[in-house]
Amino acid sequence: MELLSNDEAGMRAALAQAQAAAQAGEVPVGAVVVRDGVVVGRGRNAPVASHDPTAHAEIQALRDAAQRLGNYRLDGCTLYVTLEPCVMCSGAALHARVARVVYGAAEPKTGAAGSVLDLFAEPRLNHHTQIARGVLADECSALLAGFFQQRRRQNQAAARAAHPLRDDALRTPDAAFAHLPDYPWAPRYASDWPSLQGLRLHYLDEGPRDAPLTWLCLHGAPAWSYLYRRMLPVFLAAGHRVVAPDLIGFGKSDKPKKPGFHTPERHREILHALLQQADLQRCVLVLQRSAAPLAAPLVMAARERFAGVLLLESAPGPGAVETAAESVALNAPFPDRGHRAALQAFAAMHSAQDQALAEGVLLRGLRSTRGAAHSADMALQAVEYFRPS
Ligand SMILES: [Zn+2]
Repeated sequence: MELLSNDEAGMRAALAQAQAAAQAGEVPVGAVVVRDGVVVGRGRNAPVASHDPTAHAEIQALRDAAQRLGNYRLDGCTLYVTLEPCVMCSGAALHARVARVVYGAAEPKTGAAGSVLDLFAEPRLNHHTQIARGVLADECSALLAGFFQQRRRQNQAAARAAHPLRDDALRTPDAAFAHLPDYPWAPRYASDWPSLQGLRLHYLDEGPRDAPLTWLCLHGAPAWSYLYRRMLPVFLAAGHRVVAPDLIGFGKSDKPKKPGFHTPERHREILHALLQQADLQRCVLVLQRSAAPLAAPLVMAARERFAGVLLLESAPGPGAVETAAESVALNAPFPDRGHRAALQAFAAMHSAQDQALAEGVLLRGLRSTRGAAHSADMALQAVEYFRPS
């Protein structure tokens, strides 16, 4: 039998378990329990396959070792694990009274051995277990990073297969939207409505479908649904529904390369399809001034679905309420000229007549002041104003 002579050797045994986890499609974390240089327990992360939230590598390895040694106490044993243990696994290691815990990569979000908190440094809990950190940390974290990168690629390939991209259109890469501040909502996509002509529309749809009020948040140019990130939480907290599309050519929706695609009629048709497909009732239309010409005919064509209009009097861009990171995020969907065709088209689209028409229809609602647009405060005011009687 091969004796493990040092911590690196122990960690390599744990890494082999992590690789096995990756092959099984689980987040690659592996663990072994070693006593006197001999592996007495092995475990790999397996919560997905086993439908078991406790099936972390450490728990599996501790169980395996305790079975094999016929003892629930693992005195004199060392637990090697490729990733810093969580609260549950740190607790289990303390219960088992292992002599040492040795981990590889730190886990800044859930680590309970020094990152988020340190159970092993808590004298009221722990008199037994020593901790050693960062053994083969680079290899351990590279395995995790590779796994997540591959999974992202697979997800993207699946998304492309579900909504294929037309040859004459662009799609802003998902990477442009990674780590957006204050935009936690799940994307929804449609591409099979006839008016979309195979283009992929992205929209948010949050809150109960039978809510007393639905806020249909329509951005103008240049912007996208991200514009409404401060208002959405207020509407949702009031128990209302929020639907926020990215118009074709904007945000996470597909972007035809030719500005000629963008006629007011096309966009109105798509918005009309959204009203029907998402079955929007009792709507307050929230819109930026620059989207008003699209919105007025939409409201007139489906008056029975609308309870009011909230007109926001400001352009997006560097403003009082935006941080630099948010400003970058607002521009994220438009990385180059090709992706900006809609912005060009929208700038030319608004006729004076449309504007006048919009004014006429939209006077029946609430209007923000310039500074307050898109803010949580404005949303609170609006919730109060449009509260169903
Ligand atoms: Zn754990």
